Amino acid sequence: MELGGGGRRGAGDRGRRQLQSVVRLGSYLAGGFLLLSAASSVAVRSLRALSDANQRKFATPCGACEGKGTYPCRLCRGSATIDWSPGHDPVFINPCLCPTCDGTRVQRCLNCLGKGYA
Ligand SMILES: [Zn+2]
Ligand SMILES: [Zn+2]
Repeated sequence: MELGGGGRRGAGDRGRRQLQSVVRLGSYLAGGFLLLSAASSVAVRSLRALSDANQRKFATPCGACEGKGTYPCRLCRGSATIDWSPGHDPVFINPCLCPTCDGTRVQRCLNCLGKGYA
C-alpha cells in the first residue's frame, strides 16, 4: 500500500524506470530487428547466388536458341534491314534498319531471356 506524497514519488520513479527499461527493450528489439533483416538479406543474397549457380550447372540449354542466348532475327532474317514501304506503296520500298534487332541481325532469345539456359 503506498499512500501520500512519498508513495506517489516512488510510483513515479518506478514508472520512469519502467519506461527506461521499455525504451531499452525497444532499442534492443530495433537493433535485433536490424541485425536480423541484414542477416536475412545477406542469406537471401547468398541463397540466390547459390540457386543461380545451381541453375547454371544443372540447367538444360535453351531449346529455342540452342544455348546461345540469341537467335537470328526473325523479322529481317539476318539481313539487318527490312523492306518498308509507307502505305504499302510498292513504288516506295525503302530498305530500313530492322526495328527488332536494330541492325545487329540477332534477337535476344525470349525463351531464356538471353541466358542460354532454361
Ligand atoms: Zn532484324
Ligand atoms: Zn534461349
